[in-house]
Amino acid sequence: MRSVGRSERRRSASASAPGAAEIAIDNASKVFGTGEGAVVALEDVSVAIPGGQFVCLLGPSGCGKSTLLRVIAGLLAPSQGEIAWPHGKPSPGFVFQDATLMPWATARENVRLPLDLTGVARASAETRAHDALARVGLQDYADAFPRALSGGMRMRVSIARALVAKPRLLLMDEPFAALDEISRDALNEDLLKLWREDGLTIVFVTHSVYESTFLSSRIVTMTPRP
Ligand code: ADP
Ligand code: MG
Repeated sequence: MRSVGRSERRRSASASAPGAAEIAIDNASKVFGTGEGAVVALEDVSVAIPGGQFVCLLGPSGCGKSTLLRVIAGLLAPSQGEIAWPHGKPSPGFVFQDATLMPWATARENVRLPLDLTGVARASAETRAHDALARVGLQDYADAFPRALSGGMRMRVSIARALVAKPRLLLMDEPFAALDEISRDALNEDLLKLWREDGLTIVFVTHSVYESTFLSSRIVTMTPRP
């Protein structure tokens, strides 16, 4: 059985008024299974995330970070409590630890996928896919297949795909955990730049104290019991 305690630390003061939260999580709990085998993945988590913040969910493996992110994403319903979207629920972009690219498609086709799925006209989708690849520094690799790209470059494609539909919320689950330190540092730098340019809200899961300190305007630490 695990539960989640929570504390918060601010690095930069936010000017947002209390009512301005983009995401308001109120006493959310999530229990998997029932009876003896029940696992309390989240217990009474309340957190308000103002729009435009870069928030890290930091904690050791198994403390419920991915569960909380999936609850925020709407992929999981909380067992108790609720999550409110005072400005309306956005369609978030997702980036996971695995880049999950289609191996038979080029970088550009992979990035175009969310636009193809929502019926954006081909010419416009091509332009937007190119722009998104340029934003992550891969303008020269649009026609490359995933197998020809390094792990860091595949992750860049995954980020471009998440940004191509211009979401106002980006959800990232340990996206750089599998990368070498140099690629990871470069991606951290570039992600900060993208965040500053776009005014996005980012919720970023990590178990790295260093990464969370480097990236975020706010860190939500999560701990397993005790
Ligand atoms: P973290 O991302 O911090 O490593 P998770 O949110 O993945 O942690 O998991 C938190 C706890 O919930 C763990 O004990 C995990 O085994 C359990 N858990 C997560 N997803 C499920 C599931 N679908 N069914 C049962 N238990 C789960
Ligand atoms: Mg996880």
